[in-house]
Amino acid sequence: MSVKKIAVLTSGGDAPGMNACIRAVYLAARNEGIDVVGYQHGYNGLLKQDYVAFEHKDIRNLIQRGGTVLYSARCEKFKQAEHRLKAVKHLNEAEVDGLIVIGGNGSFKGAELLQAEWDKPVVGVPGTIDNDIAGTDYTIGYHTAIQTAVESIDKVRDTADAFERIFIVDVMGRDAGFIALNSAIAGGADHVILPETFDSAAGELVRILDKLDQRRKNHANSSHIIVITENLWPGGLNILCDSLQTETGVDTRILTLGHVQRGGSPVWQDRILASKLGTFAVEMVINDERGRMAGIRHRYPESVPLENSRENLKPLNHYSLSMLEKIALLG
Ligand code: ADP
Repeated sequence: MSVKKIAVLTSGGDAPGMNACIRAVYLAARNEGIDVVGYQHGYNGLLKQDYVAFEHKDIRNLIQRGGTVLYSARCEKFKQAEHRLKAVKHLNEAEVDGLIVIGGNGSFKGAELLQAEWDKPVVGVPGTIDNDIAGTDYTIGYHTAIQTAVESIDKVRDTADAFERIFIVDVMGRDAGFIALNSAIAGGADHVILPETFDSAAGELVRILDKLDQRRKNHANSSHIIVITENLWPGGLNILCDSLQTETGVDTRILTLGHVQRGGSPVWQDRILASKLGTFAVEMVINDERGRMAGIRHRYPESVPLENSRENLKPLNHYSLSMLEKIALLG
């Protein structure tokens, strides 16, 4: 198959580094004499035939910019076959020879279904801060989100120390603890609460109180930082906050980092990852690889079936978990 035109879109939750990936797709494609069009607002662009033909000026100074110039969005209609068939019609009318979807698990499910209905390659590139995609060591945006969380933990520790407070820092991650675990380690937190290891509120509370007790015996007047993955505590974080305050008598506050973790200029790890995966995705389209994802393994890109990526099987690093248990109380 001779590839003359590749389309790219960004879908689902946005992540820092998506722009760097779009840039790499454009440059790698142009290097082969291939044109690139960008569909806007995720799958909505495919349904509305809403795309831009990229030129070199569009990708200049793009590698360092957060967000996505193609805009990201959710598109409920794409879950229905009749709408996906319209997308296929639009892709064919625009004479597109291959589609690159930068997004998360949901976007990949859409890409898989589209692949079943279209006779040209659809290739996924993992773009999500949550790192919750199997088949790839890292996802685009993950490193930047950790950096943002760590900077916030550092800052909140200053004020926590000044007032000898307990701070509960709520970080993103959806159903995965990657951001929480690694920002807790890098931020020197005292405790981390993860979806992968959480059993019950009562059990977790006992563990936290034990730790706080020990720590206060070792270091009087100390502050405490607890990192938790979003939406994890049953009934919400105010319940945990009230319990800690009542049981310890220590002023306890919640810091919810929220969407700032999605923003900002991507850190170098995400720029390089996005550049590698964008370039590799273009090679995959040229090689007519269908229904696959461009993943990264031990620093090298690798082609993985899309259906493997959404298996919710990506484990946390066990050494990181055990290490945190060993060193948390010494901080
Ligand atoms: P993410 O890609 O970040 O996981 P979502 O789960 O919100 O984000 O999915 C993004 C988009 O992918 C959805 O708005 C929809 O357009 C598409 N999508 C998600 N699930 C499906 C599905 N089961 N079938 C078809 N398209 C889907």
